[in-house]
Amino acid sequence: IIELRGVNKWYGAFHVLRDVNLSVAKGERIVICGPSGSGKSTTIRCINRLEEHQAGDIIVKGVPLDDDVRHVESIRRDVGMVFQQFNLFPHLTVLENCILAPMWVKKMPRAEAEAKARQLLERVRIPDQALKYPGQLSGGQQQRVAIARALCMDPSIMLFDEPTSALDPEMVKEVLDVMSDLAASGMTMLVVTHEMGFARRMADRVVFMDKGEIVEVAPPDQFFDAPQNDRTKAFLGQVL
Ligand code: ATP
Ligand code: MG
Repeated sequence: IIELRGVNKWYGAFHVLRDVNLSVAKGERIVICGPSGSGKSTTIRCINRLEEHQAGDIIVKGVPLDDDVRHVESIRRDVGMVFQQFNLFPHLTVLENCILAPMWVKKMPRAEAEAKARQLLERVRIPDQALKYPGQLSGGQQQRVAIARALCMDPSIMLFDEPTSALDPEMVKEVLDVMSDLAASGMTMLVVTHEMGFARRMADRVVFMDKGEIVEVAPPDQFFDAPQNDRTKAFLGQVL
């Protein structure tokens, strides 16, 4: 469902992604980990064109990410993203945050968009917060709104960039539980996270990046119990 082939990217002279190759099947759950600055965010941001790659191919559901705006728009419609900092609109209620894209991008009638949003708020276990503003919610609740908002667009792929890193420890679990439900429902997910317990339980494969390269890709048992690469071993020695 996602193909990265020989993907390279530079920020000016800085070579941030070096020949990144990754093929993700429909329904697969991928966890990406690695040291700070290794290119994890850049990789997933390239998949919905928040960043542009300069060499190689990125193909999502058969559509290449290239200069054709229609390709970029169709991919963006199908790929939901959740950020570390929630990125909710503070001046809109939870419900309004959720219905915005379905109404404006998909031209969904308001009543239908609201019904769908309420259903998804239920799914992320905060049905009673619909009329509050983001500032009135805890971090864990805000992040679950962000997940519900992304799901309102019926994406076939969800990208998560350190969704729990900005949360107090007691809120991490409620967000990971929602992500686990989503994983169990068959959603294709790419998750950048340092939550190694989540990776072990939910990932089909774990990708380790260092210095802009994918250094190792393995199923979690093998990745954690028998890492092959010295850089992976050093990293796991620090985080486990
Ligand atoms: P972290 O764990 O800290 O989030 P990361 O693996 O997500 O790290 P990226 O955000 O992908 O890393 O960044 C990779 C490298 O690219 C870093 O060295 C970063 O400083 C650099 N970088 C990121 N964004 C830009 C930018 N807009 N301009 C220049 N350099 C950038
Ligand atoms: Mg990052």
